[in-house]
Amino acid sequence: MAEAGSFADRVKQQADIVRVIGEYVQLKKAGQNFRGLCPFHSEKSPSFNVHPLRQIYHCFGCNVGGDVFKFVMEMEKCGFPEAIRIVAEKCGIAVPAPRERSPEERRENQQRTLLVEIHRAAQTFFTKHLENTSEGKVARAYLEDRGIAKDVIEQFGIGYAPSGGDTLLRILKTKYPDKLLVESGLISRDQGGGRLFDRFRRRITFPIANESGKIVAFGCRALGDDQPKYLNSPETPIYSKSNVLYHLDRAKEALRRSDFAVLVEGYMDAIAVARAGISNVVASCGTSLAEPQIKLLSRFTRRVIVNYDPDNAGQTATERSISLLLEQDFEVRVLALPGKADPDKFIREQGKDAYLKVLKESPPYVDYLIARARRMDLTTGEGKRNAVNFLLPYVQKIPNRLLRSEWATRIAQQLRLDEPVLRAELSKAAAERRSEVKVKAELIGRSSATPAERRLIRMLVEGEGFRHELAQRIDHDQLHIGLETEKILAALIAASATAEPIQATEVAANLDDRDRRVLFEILFEDPSELTWEQAESCLEALQQRRAERELAEVQRSIEANPVGPDLRTLLERKQQLMKRMAVSRQQSA
Ligand SMILES: [Zn+2]
Repeated sequence: MAEAGSFADRVKQQADIVRVIGEYVQLKKAGQNFRGLCPFHSEKSPSFNVHPLRQIYHCFGCNVGGDVFKFVMEMEKCGFPEAIRIVAEKCGIAVPAPRERSPEERRENQQRTLLVEIHRAAQTFFTKHLENTSEGKVARAYLEDRGIAKDVIEQFGIGYAPSGGDTLLRILKTKYPDKLLVESGLISRDQGGGRLFDRFRRRITFPIANESGKIVAFGCRALGDDQPKYLNSPETPIYSKSNVLYHLDRAKEALRRSDFAVLVEGYMDAIAVARAGISNVVASCGTSLAEPQIKLLSRFTRRVIVNYDPDNAGQTATERSISLLLEQDFEVRVLALPGKADPDKFIREQGKDAYLKVLKESPPYVDYLIARARRMDLTTGEGKRNAVNFLLPYVQKIPNRLLRSEWATRIAQQLRLDEPVLRAELSKAAAERRSEVKVKAELIGRSSATPAERRLIRMLVEGEGFRHELAQRIDHDQLHIGLETEKILAALIAASATAEPIQATEVAANLDDRDRRVLFEILFEDPSELTWEQAESCLEALQQRRAERELAEVQRSIEANPVGPDLRTLLERKQQLMKRMAVSRQQSA
């Protein structure tokens, strides 16, 4: 990726991977490496490693790895050019004028820039309409009625989309082509004639910003009884619903500081909660929380209080969210507001102190679930079984055994179940879960590359002075053929053709996922002195292995055709091989 002499290459040479990654992950020195909790999967003990000399990172848990650019691309969800720019900026390297991009890239970039610009224009349009028009006056009265005063309107950029049908269109049309306007999602095209019109009409508008605070969509609430009550921007090149959390751009600092998030359903709720002084609130904007949203949130905190609407949809959403959050190792509490109120309504009616109080008291998710189960019909055996089946999947996800056991007791008490029976069910379920986990671990299991292969790979990367000769020897005798690490060794032999130092990440770029992982695993092994003597003994080990394989083949041929014309030759070869192996066994003994 980073061509020698290119700007990318220069940045890579100068960038300190430990410092760059250290801005995202807390790293501690561990031997020659640095170690921390992996930002790409959830874990409790660190398996994410950064190698300062080789300038690579690798996670032994989820097997991600690469160089500093790859890391930034993954973290920032950006492309290669953007990653170079970010790394350069972090390391104080002056960025030259942007290089010529491919026409495709340039077009997409331009389109995104314009779409953001259109949203900015729309935002100005909506806020002005709320402020200055007679229609807007009605909307303001409605907002005021819901406790949203002028300062809140300004703070959250609330606006109004007029009923005209093409008021926004007429303004945008003077600057942007129709096609782009439709792509923005703010303008719709009617199905028959292709006539354009405003998507949002007679609605209160809430700007939805991405993590960096750029408006990328709008959420809109009907002013009257128009259906649907809530209408949001569709998916566009700059907006994907499952990747955005409403209010995250303003909540970031508070999330880090307080180390927990309040998760609500809609923007009205988020605004109400933020107004109550809890700025670490985010809204999923829709009833279902998506996995990318959880990943996004996990960069700031792993503790969440779910405070969804108490209606049926909200309850289902709460349960689904609990599952997803537990899978990502979140600590989850659930706030079910009394009186079936949503956060907005509750705060309006009871005040913010009352909300703060119930928020503080919100129970761990298991309590919430037990309460739900208790509302099921527990008078029959079947009803009880349903209740247990409802609870089991969640209890199973409690990682701590003692805690799980404690919950089992509580569930048994609260649902009036026979505790030993419940425990038996639980451990059965737990065993099933363990076997699942085991299978998965085997699937991605460690490589079975031999110590000799491992050492040779390290020497091919690092063996200053003899790297080249070693590669030639392996290549000449084709010692790597048939080994588990064949492709890795082949890639390293190819890379050794020049005198340039080997860039592990560039070699890795030509390997498939599994081989790349094996290579990185090996490169992170403890360093030991690399000498030519060692290299020779590794080569010998490979020769030996090859002899063993050949011997097995010869033996098979002999057995397959014991009276064939080649028998004499085969037997001779067998003798040779056995002698050779005996000699090398003596040498190594
Ligand atoms: Zn990981």
